Amino acid sequence: MPDKIVKQDPPETFAQTLVRHGVELTRDRTVTLQVNTGRLCSLSCRHCHLEAGPGRGETMTRETMDSVIDAARRLPFASIDITGGAPELVPDLEYLLRGVAPLAPRVVVRTNLVSLDERLARLYRELRVVLVASFPALNAGQTSAQRGEGVWEKSIEALKLLNSVGYGVPGEGVELDLVSNPSGAFLPAAQAGSEKRFRAELSRRYGVSFDNLFCFANVPLGRFLAWLEKSGNLEGYREKLAAGFNPCAVAGLMCRSQLSVDWDGALYDCDFHLAAGIPFGGGVANIRELQELPAPGTPIPTAQYCFACTVGSGFT
Ligand code: SF4
Repeated sequence: MPDKIVKQDPPETFAQTLVRHGVELTRDRTVTLQVNTGRLCSLSCRHCHLEAGPGRGETMTRETMDSVIDAARRLPFASIDITGGAPELVPDLEYLLRGVAPLAPRVVVRTNLVSLDERLARLYRELRVVLVASFPALNAGQTSAQRGEGVWEKSIEALKLLNSVGYGVPGEGVELDLVSNPSGAFLPAAQAGSEKRFRAELSRRYGVSFDNLFCFANVPLGRFLAWLEKSGNLEGYREKLAAGFNPCAVAGLMCRSQLSVDWDGALYDCDFHLAAGIPFGGGVANIRELQELPAPGTPIPTAQYCFACTVGSGFT
């Protein structure tokens, strides 16, 4: 008897999935400017979608920072969200922070914890910057495998330092949030349960406190994509993301309410499109030229990795 031929349908694209669910991906009101200060980082994390690391030279100049500050002055962003690489390694970070702090009600810095020192912790405190720190797991071994040897110990020391200047301490008014992501080709655990566990364990073992824990799926781009390919996990992971598509998550996607500006001033709809080089769908190429916020209803380009943002309860 001849082998049965099983015809495999090509996987549905993200755009097709949206159509099937009767959902469009368009802008809502844009309230956040995310600022990517460059690819230089003290770590080379396995999951980094930007492939940031110690060998990367791209860093935002003061001239581009001035363009960012000018944009924050002329446009009503409610939040400026500074990321990298490691923003702490950018020589003019203080210049950028002092420039934007008076212009937006909320300024966020995404920190890898290990590039932080006491001077910066006090600067953040002075400017009431919200800190969002990478802290993938409660397990030292998993953290080292994902982020590098010694990172666990340094991260705990950094959390203690931040607590000592008031971050994550009730009543001090400076917010410290943690971000956890899985170490492999699987989806994150439910956020509420993880937050409870992280809070209890960090308090019991190290006397450390924080405000919120966010659990995100890894996006199949950059170094994480290369690892998925090398380990033979790519297809299975993509299937998992697509199978978990949640149409309700589309309303809260970060691309609907934020713009991303790269270290050289180029504009994108989000940090993932920035990593993949898919330019801002609103038609303006550089932050210098941005005279008004994109109108609600402006279409947002999509890609297959958008499934990572809509799996389960979503990315944001
Ligand atoms: S990757 Fe996520 S945030 Fe970016 S456009 Fe796609 S759905 Fe939106």
